[in-house]
Amino acid sequence: MIKTKIVCTIGPVSESYEMLYNMYKAGMNIARFNMSHGDHASHSIIMNRVHELNRNIEFPVGLLLDTKGPEIRTGNSDFDLKEGDVVEVSVEGEEDPTRTSLYVGYPDLIKSVEVGGRLTIDNGLINLEILDKQKTSMNCKVLDGGYIKGRRHVNLPGADVNLPSITEKDREDILFGLEHDVDFIALSFVRTGENILELKELLGDRGKQVKIIAKIENQQGVDNLEDIVQESDGIMVARGDLGVEVNIEDLPHIQRRIAYLCGRNGKRVIVATHLLESMIDNPIPTRAEVTDVANAVHEDADAVMLSGETTVGKYPLKCIEHLAKMAIKTESYPSVQFAARELVSENKKQHIANSAVRLARQLKCKGLVVITRSGRSAECVSNCRTFGFDTFAFTNNQKSYRMMTLMRSINPFQIEFEDPEETIATAFSVLKERQIAHKGDQMVIISDVRVENGTIDSIQVRPVY
Ligand code: PEP
Repeated sequence: MIKTKIVCTIGPVSESYEMLYNMYKAGMNIARFNMSHGDHASHSIIMNRVHELNRNIEFPVGLLLDTKGPEIRTGNSDFDLKEGDVVEVSVEGEEDPTRTSLYVGYPDLIKSVEVGGRLTIDNGLINLEILDKQKTSMNCKVLDGGYIKGRRHVNLPGADVNLPSITEKDREDILFGLEHDVDFIALSFVRTGENILELKELLGDRGKQVKIIAKIENQQGVDNLEDIVQESDGIMVARGDLGVEVNIEDLPHIQRRIAYLCGRNGKRVIVATHLLESMIDNPIPTRAEVTDVANAVHEDADAVMLSGETTVGKYPLKCIEHLAKMAIKTESYPSVQFAARELVSENKKQHIANSAVRLARQLKCKGLVVITRSGRSAECVSNCRTFGFDTFAFTNNQKSYRMMTLMRSINPFQIEFEDPEETIATAFSVLKERQIAHKGDQMVIISDVRVENGTIDSIQVRPVY
């Protein structure tokens, strides 16, 4: 069974019920809704399709809403920039197609950047060096030129950007997501732990319904990583923007540091963007892509994420199948990332999980069964980054069931809970029915047991019966 989870962004090529079903069969664990595209009406239809899918399949598909976040864009005009040219960049005035200055829609631009710094347009393709600054404009030298169409994405590498962490659109989208029972909210462009607290305040009591994933997309986010990890449930290494905002050669060790910090702190980690980019057009991945995916799996990522590959690509199903095959193969070798050995926790459930995992490994058990209402015990087992056996988590709660889709190594099941012993019997029956385990297979079990005046925690070693 595959340990690493697969997040698929849903778009034009993947939004039909039939495709969603086929993607689930190929290995999709989570459907991602990117609020940078589409409107509420279209997202609503597709989210309902995923809920319908969940009523007809054996394992759950989680729903992740990804906010658009604050953005800086150029104006409406097109520009042809030649290497070596000096161009005026201005934050003022409505655009006029005959103007020679390039408009950037961020009033604090001049304050946020330094002379000698860079301004990057269209995901890193066009690069300008800032030569001097005036009150509302600045002169820039074109380092990498090209033709830019209107409304292109602008990045300011290294700058402390003064933009809201949650825009008005994000607020509306987040409330829309809650109404549609999403399981994860990925907050774009998180720069500080405070940004996450702001989201928690917006969510209020509804915060229990969703896990918060912080997207790390710029240097400020990297600088404040410890705080952000503490405040959120997990991190997305958003390599698309991050690769433009930091020096690209820093990307691999930032990814590794994020994976390490999440591992130490028992938080989820999603490695995103360009994992199988060439498969947007080609039926097989490049050697470098295969190695990149294996690297993420070796780093104990909970999940890997597809974007263009499953929204507009020619081979969405092949991408998922390739990812699953690569993950399974790589997982059969011990990981290079040993953060789980340094897991810091004072939590009783975590200590129980640590002991149960050690026992399952030392006794060479077939698997570990965890009975969990909230999913927390399953998360603690996932934090141990198990190796050498499978983990089966049984819950009676639909929300916990879908939230487990992001936990590495956890295979979720939903059953009715009865007396603890009967619940274990039901769990064994499900595993036998689905031919995942057989009578006599040795299992470690984390479950309550009934005692005279209530229930207590237990770790049991016993065969499937
Ligand atoms: C990224 O930048 O890698 C990312 C996942 O964010 P988005 O798709 O929203 O640009």
